[in-house]
Amino acid sequence: MKTPMQIEDHQNTKIVATVGPACSSPEMLLKLVQAGVDVFRLNFSHGSHADHEEVIHRVLKLNEEYNVNIGILVDLQGPKIRVGKIKDETLELQQGDVLTFVSEECLGTMEQIYMSYEPFASDVSVGERVLVDDGKLILEVVETNKKDTVKLKVLYGNSISSNKGVNLPDTAISQPAMTEKDHEDLQFALQFPINWVALSFVRSAKDMKDLRALIEERGHAAKTIAKIEKPEAVKYIDQIIKASNAIMIARGDLGVEVPMEQLPSIQKRIIKKCIQRARPVIVATQMMDSMITSPTPTRAEISDVANAVLDGADAVMLSGETSVGAHPVTVVEAMNKILAETEKSYSMEGKSPKLSKKSGTFLSDTVCAAAAKIAENIGAKAIIGLTISGYTAFRVSSHRPPCKIYIFSEKRQILSTLNLVWGVRCFYYDGFANTEETIYDVVELLKKKNQVEQGELLVNTGIMPLADRGRTNLVKITVVD
Ligand code: PGA
Ligand code: MN
Repeated sequence: MKTPMQIEDHQNTKIVATVGPACSSPEMLLKLVQAGVDVFRLNFSHGSHADHEEVIHRVLKLNEEYNVNIGILVDLQGPKIRVGKIKDETLELQQGDVLTFVSEECLGTMEQIYMSYEPFASDVSVGERVLVDDGKLILEVVETNKKDTVKLKVLYGNSISSNKGVNLPDTAISQPAMTEKDHEDLQFALQFPINWVALSFVRSAKDMKDLRALIEERGHAAKTIAKIEKPEAVKYIDQIIKASNAIMIARGDLGVEVPMEQLPSIQKRIIKKCIQRARPVIVATQMMDSMITSPTPTRAEISDVANAVLDGADAVMLSGETSVGAHPVTVVEAMNKILAETEKSYSMEGKSPKLSKKSGTFLSDTVCAAAAKIAENIGAKAIIGLTISGYTAFRVSSHRPPCKIYIFSEKRQILSTLNLVWGVRCFYYDGFANTEETIYDVVELLKKKNQVEQGELLVNTGIMPLADRGRTNLVKITVVD
């Protein structure tokens, strides 16, 4: 088991845990970190601003007290559609029944049911499918007045209950990626030094550029995550990866929106693309789902987590398992064990970052690639880098080198941002005087922290001249004395 003081035994693959009533106390948050959590996810689909603010303060305090860099990921709900309240909670249905959905709030009956999406009637067309509750209920549009009323026939399923999620896989949604609630949630979250903002149901690169502009407008350092859970996002994945700082493969909604049998190959394809572009990638949803109630995972879940590691994911995510589950600590411990064991057989074969001469960062990208190669060839203990923006860390990590990656930064917030990234461990360092001194200093610091020992080989990447604060342009081999 990890303790916050022994950061060296963290696995390379990171764990993101969703915070909820089952784990939001200071004691539980600490226990989860000790068990292996690297980033906490605040799901703005649930909970009040006051709840989230409390958790943010608790995580920041934990970082300070235990000298760790746990990241905070704010997850914006996006245009999630739900059915309204149903009279007596559920309504029994027969195949072939016709239901009427309206855009005005009402208590759902066989006569009419509320759909929480204003343009529902104008967006859908006859023949399109409407999936409720992760596809457990399948409906088909038989009539729409293109204004406020839609008639749907039950194709499959036998009941409908209050507030269940709705997916429209066949429909071109007209609503913008960020709803009014998302704007409010974002502005609220940006009051705090959070690290990542994830946007749900992203459909285009523009969605991500708009999100980044909103964050930059506030002068905030948070980085962006595109949640891939719509067919359009899969289609435009290259542009979306380029416009985002990181990607989440949100398999819950994705598995309803695209044919479910495509999930594994989509996951593998997206992870490969993210590694090529040096973008961190999270695999999310149902990884240890049975542990919401059971104290042990199923064999299939063990394999799912292991496969995400072998695919090359930066991080694996827990949702209900930690937020509302019965065994939040046990599930993180179990996941951590699977990561540790699977990483022993990790191979980079068939996946590697692309170097593009056309890229504005081609030269420093080549230096990072060389550092990874040298580290492998000489059997280095670690690659050491300095960063202001995080770029060098993303780049070095994307080579998945067979050694530690120690990153130093004078920006405190970037330390916890980089905690999401494969293999990266961060330290605060503000003595950016000149390159020689800095390299000496950071090695001394690692010696003091017992991270490196005499005789070990290190690969330093650096910036020269340091005063320019330019990009990484130097590699040096250091023998620890
Ligand atoms: P959610 O996103 O938990 O916010 O729905 C993850 C997913 O859809 O997989
Ligand atoms: Mn989702």
